[in-house]
Amino acid sequence: MARFTGVDFYEIDGLLSDEERQIRDHVRDWVEDRYLPLVEKAYEDAFFPAEVIPEVASMGLLGATLPEEYGCAGVNATAYGLAMQELERGDSGLRSFASVQGSLAMWPIYAYGSEAQRKRWLPPMAKGEVIGCFGLTEPDFGSNPSGMITRAVRRDGGYVLNGAKMWITNGTIAHVAVVWAKLKDEASGREEIRGFIVEKGTKGFSAPEQKRKHSLRASVTSELVLQNVHVGEDALLPNVSGLKGPLGCL
Ligand SMILES: Cc1cc2nc3c(=O)[nH]c(=O)nc-3n(C[C@H](O)[C@H](O)[C@H](O)COP(=O)(O)OP(=O)(O)OC[C@H]3O[C@@H](n4cnc5c(N)ncnc54)[C@H](O)[C@@H]3O)c2cc1C
Repeated sequence: MARFTGVDFYEIDGLLSDEERQIRDHVRDWVEDRYLPLVEKAYEDAFFPAEVIPEVASMGLLGATLPEEYGCAGVNATAYGLAMQELERGDSGLRSFASVQGSLAMWPIYAYGSEAQRKRWLPPMAKGEVIGCFGLTEPDFGSNPSGMITRAVRRDGGYVLNGAKMWITNGTIAHVAVVWAKLKDEASGREEIRGFIVEKGTKGFSAPEQKRKHSLRASVTSELVLQNVHVGEDALLPNVSGLKGPLGCL
């Protein structure tokens, strides 16, 4: 059977650099040879074939646009977009896995995190050894995340989180969650949305999988449950507050 060569109705190919085309073609071949043979069973049986994670990582696709000093590929946004387009062709769940890891978990740590948070989390996340998720949507607030109910309060030199998130890609397989919650600013008394890094295994935190989806079946989708979850001061992403934090990732 002839190999897939893509469709290019607007002749965009000629606008790409050699490197961008090479990355696109490499990911296309990998999807064709490696992922398409797996995905039908994964979709039917509703699981994400996690054995491909090291391969996706070795292609530099996790946090692809982030700098090389954090173990990332440092490619441009066009190359990243082309790679995600090819993963999406394999299955939307595969693209969701990679883009949630890169854009929704690694990117906020890079853009809003401290240098210590970047150094700790980004290199193992680029290698696919640490999986991340992004907890914004809640059972009662999806399109309007500013209404979120999840709250953080300052206590004992850290924060206590309470709330629930829903429809969270990678949630159950994630080692770390970027959770958005409202925290009262002590100076102004106003509540502001802040981002927190919550590690799997933290007491009071669980991520049960949401089963029986009708779509995106080859993708892990989960609830995040936060019941008096105590995290340290270093869990807070220091460099952003307000809805622009999560919206900047999306
Ligand atoms: C498979 C899957 C994976 C996901 N992964 C993540 C994730 O990793 N992290 C995360 O935080 N979230 C995730 N989400 C959640 C996703 O971002 C939300 O589903 C989305 O924001 C919509 O929220 P909702 O489902 O509550 O729908 P609702 O907000 O209840 O909207 C329902 C419908 O009403 C429409 N609507 C809503 N408000 C208005 C309005 N004011 N005017 C007109 N129409 C309106 C919407 O367009 C939609 O058609 C995921 C969802 C799915 C299905």
